[in-house]
Amino acid sequence: MKLLVATRSAHKMSEIRQILGSVPNLTVLDLTDAGIAPDPVEDDLEVYETFEENALAKAEYFFRLSGMPTVADDSGLEVDALGGAPGVRSKRFAPDTGLDGQARDDANNRYLVEKLEGVEPVDRTARYVCVAALLEAGNEPFYARGEAPGLVLDAPQGKGGFGYDPYIYDPKFGGTFAEMSPAEKNERSHRGAAFGALASSLAKRAM
Ligand code: IMP
Repeated sequence: MKLLVATRSAHKMSEIRQILGSVPNLTVLDLTDAGIAPDPVEDDLEVYETFEENALAKAEYFFRLSGMPTVADDSGLEVDALGGAPGVRSKRFAPDTGLDGQARDDANNRYLVEKLEGVEPVDRTARYVCVAALLEAGNEPFYARGEAPGLVLDAPQGKGGFGYDPYIYDPKFGGTFAEMSPAEKNERSHRGAAFGALASSLAKRAM
């Protein structure tokens, strides 16, 4: 089976490739492999209030373009002291517009730390959420949700991962998500859980 993984994030892609690598007879394609060039329309797909709806909107868009079984991921960080924000708005949390890549991540992290100023360590509970939505001809969408709890630090630790990882401490691991190796992150992360469930479902079909 060929599967299009519809993300422009090289970080997400590398994590997902590693997780889906366990599925027999599965060829994973990214958007470049599928010949789908970036289009500004893609920035307006994630307009919904739930991870499920946003993941499905992305999967539908790229399924229409590719005609191939397509999975998309919508993910983010929910911080309890902020009423669940930034949630589905995690990518564009900081008000600075026009930033991208590492500059965007840095602005988001600065904004997160600012918003949590004065909040006690015990009240800095949060969770990463990831929803994978798989769309293929003739089937209802398949959803898999994964969550990973953590505490928000006010100073970064570690150089791995991406996004909020240097600020999110996993008490069971004893370090931040940025201090984990890629394999350690996939064992504990929201994306590891969601795509692990998808991998199990795809593996059953291959048997
Ligand atoms: P989206 O799924 O493309 O809407 O964006 C998800 C945003 O949530 C990213 O830009 C990051 O800011 C954040 N995020 C999602 N997953 C992770 C992760 O594994 N580590 C750190 N940040 C993440």
